Amino acid sequence: MSDRIPFLRPNLVPKRSYLSLLDSIDSSHFYSNYGPLCTEFESRVVAEGYGGIGSLCTVNNATIGLMLAIHQARRPGRYALMPSFTFAATPLAAQWAGLEPYFVDVMPDTWCLDPRKLQEALDLLGDEVAVVVPYATFGTGMDLGPYACLHGAGVPVVVDAAASFGTQIEGEWYGKGFPGLVVFSFHATKAFGIGEGGAVYSGNLKAIERLRRAGNFGFGADRASCDQGLNSKISEYTAAIALATWEVYPEKVSCRRSIHAAYEMGLASLELSEAGWATQVVKGDVPFQFMPLLCPPVVSNREVVDRLSLHGIECRTYFSPACHQQLQFSGCPHGGLAVTEDLSRRILSLPLWEEMAAGDIDRVLMGIKG
Ligand SMILES: *Cc1c(COP(=O)(O)O)cnc(C)c1O
Repeated sequence: MSDRIPFLRPNLVPKRSYLSLLDSIDSSHFYSNYGPLCTEFESRVVAEGYGGIGSLCTVNNATIGLMLAIHQARRPGRYALMPSFTFAATPLAAQWAGLEPYFVDVMPDTWCLDPRKLQEALDLLGDEVAVVVPYATFGTGMDLGPYACLHGAGVPVVVDAAASFGTQIEGEWYGKGFPGLVVFSFHATKAFGIGEGGAVYSGNLKAIERLRRAGNFGFGADRASCDQGLNSKISEYTAAIALATWEVYPEKVSCRRSIHAAYEMGLASLELSEAGWATQVVKGDVPFQFMPLLCPPVVSNREVVDRLSLHGIECRTYFSPACHQQLQFSGCPHGGLAVTEDLSRRILSLPLWEEMAAGDIDRVLMGIKG
């Protein structure tokens, strides 16, 4: 039998690509606290990615980034409106920020919040809505126009864009100029993987300044705490890896996109969509984290995971169970979640990693075809 195909094989930059940066840490004696390498990374992302628009603060992971962002952005009220079709970190961050997650259903094609159902929840809950936390599902460039309007109308918006770092829409980086907060993850399993890390971006410079202060114990100029802060800083060692990753990110992204395109071509040539298999309708150019695929309505994703496993192919089922189906969130209020429940029965996450060969993709597709 041929080799096992793992679901993911994270491939971080090799140490030789940042050894000189480690030397610079030895000389600078700066190890953390938004030091020179951290500042250089943040400035380069804003200058080279966002064309000088907005501001960015690194965080030690996206879960902490979401906690800080939700805490900073929220208005009085009780609920954080969000999809249930997301990673547990989204509702957990809201709970840590003292809010109750309220789950809203998603669209059957984009797998992002359903704007009509979101409006129904906003009408129903009114002033009790403290914040809205949409998720840009699996890195898609979910339309932020309506969320910018909502934010402008006084309902704060924090976007969970964990997998969307480097997503581009018509050549522009995702979130550019957005008035709310956009949270990205740099976890090893994300496209911009550096081990652990993340960043929060906003078009609103003051919002990032406040977030940065909150991420350093809420310390004001006099080093006395003036906010419910915590420690969300990255070390200079992490910043060195981030800078080295930034140098090669365009190649990583194009490699991921071409593997995704090969999957799409294979699915088409095997006529799997005629058999009821479906891919996500995505917006923009996405640095795909893995290959999500929806099973035909009559097929359960668990059966397919087991079948592929017999062929030596490892798959996952993000996000199944959906959040409202997990014990920690089982008491959270929600509207109708029929689409979410259908997706969570049918969603499959197929292998996608940078060194995958064409033969690996064929093997996965043949395994799907059965
Ligand atoms: C990866 C991910 C997170 C958490 O990111 P960390 O950096 O690991 O904390 C949050 N939300 C979503 C949707 C994710 O995919």
